[in-house]
Amino acid sequence: VVNIQSLSLCGLKPILIDIEVSYSRGQPKLVLIGLPNRIITEAKERISTALQFHGVRLKSKKTVVNLAPADLKKTESYYELPIAVGLLRLQGLLKELPQDFVFFGEFSLTGELKPLPNVIPLLRGAIKLGFKKVVLPAQSAVQASLVTDLEIFPIRNIGQIMEPNFFNAAAKNIKFIATTVLKPQTISVPNIDPIALRALSIAVSGAHNLLLVGPPGVGKSSLIQTMPKLLPPTTPTEHLEILTIYSLANKFFPIHQRSRPMRSPHHSSSVVSLIGGGHNIQPGEISLAHDGVLFLDEVTEFSRLVLDSIREPMVEHKLTINRSQNRVTFPAMNIVVAACNPCRCGFHQSKQVCKCSPLQIQQYRNRVSGPLIDRFDLQIYLTDSVVTKNSPTIETRDLHEAFLIQQTRFTPLSGMKATNGKVSLAEFKLKAEISPNATKFLDECAGKLRLNLRNYNQICRVARTIADLSGLQEVQVEHIAEALQHRCRW
Ligand SMILES: [Zn+2]
Repeated sequence: VVNIQSLSLCGLKPILIDIEVSYSRGQPKLVLIGLPNRIITEAKERISTALQFHGVRLKSKKTVVNLAPADLKKTESYYELPIAVGLLRLQGLLKELPQDFVFFGEFSLTGELKPLPNVIPLLRGAIKLGFKKVVLPAQSAVQASLVTDLEIFPIRNIGQIMEPNFFNAAAKNIKFIATTVLKPQTISVPNIDPIALRALSIAVSGAHNLLLVGPPGVGKSSLIQTMPKLLPPTTPTEHLEILTIYSLANKFFPIHQRSRPMRSPHHSSSVVSLIGGGHNIQPGEISLAHDGVLFLDEVTEFSRLVLDSIREPMVEHKLTINRSQNRVTFPAMNIVVAACNPCRCGFHQSKQVCKCSPLQIQQYRNRVSGPLIDRFDLQIYLTDSVVTKNSPTIETRDLHEAFLIQQTRFTPLSGMKATNGKVSLAEFKLKAEISPNATKFLDECAGKLRLNLRNYNQICRVARTIADLSGLQEVQVEHIAEALQHRCRW
């Protein structure tokens, strides 16, 4: 009996697949157990073709290949390589079969191995299961090299495994993918109310959720579209996490550039498309925006059900999908940005005349629940009466420096986890350094403005980012005052 390992993924969770190959009594034939019928027929064909191509004929004995656990639906084709390797060992054509290796690969009809889909999620899963070495198709090796904790043994065909000393050879030194980090630059932004520019700079530097309310046509959306260019680059770990999620969702993300994603789901989106789920449990928009920006344009037009579904992930920074047998957790650490008009006609408190009654305005705003609105650290009310001559710009250097200060403050955390907007409250309070005067001032305001505890802490977090943008160690009264200004009454 020969045992060989591979794995399956349930969301991001790896499940060990044990492949057992043995001879049995009966008619000489190859029997596969534990795979769906459709795949078995194709797999048998391709495995024997690939072996024949390298001069290997299966012994005329009944050979049983069993993939366990049996109750798990295994729809992937990359078990063909480990099955073939098991057959080689069973026939004595491999002297040894080390147990710290994991195998992935699907054969083409010419016996070569095809590129592997989901390379990065699979390899990260293999690490979680304790594997140290992986044999995979050569065409996937470069992408695999992003996962640095595994020794990679790339092969083009099954023949290479039969070469003497294959398993004892050093892992191939694959040229690592060079990822580039954008240099600081000056970004042109729409000519918009300066308070919106300031709020955007704060949101980007400290990863704060941002709500922009204002009349149509003032440039709210085009302002927010500049965010991916303003955000600091991802850490290598964040980059890998993003690629993992995009790979699971069969979506493209640039592998060479350590930039942050931005997703803008349409307001007609369903709960499943936002949160994730579906037949094979795929990540939704909120996870595709992980370590980046989730932009909800025209937030009042989203269904209440959809908006309620993102409330918890906005606090937990992850979400769990429960399906009959499986529990799948996806990350959702992101800056949520929402934009909308102030009322149904759009012109409340603008230069044009608003036709809405106070009741209509109230009804319009009630489409977004209070608890959701409460989760935006920055809530900005823009006007259309601002005219400046110069076209404004933002220096990314300033924002990235403020971001770096936070990375040092909240070490050993890094990336978006180590920002004033996203770090845990306990960790934040421990290191916030708010001056006694500033605390006293906020305590007084909190009473007058009837701030709840959540709002109170949000003001502290935003004030901390404002102080970081000024490079100051301690939060002062002026920073608290500005943070209070960035909260309109919805
Ligand atoms: Zn109106």
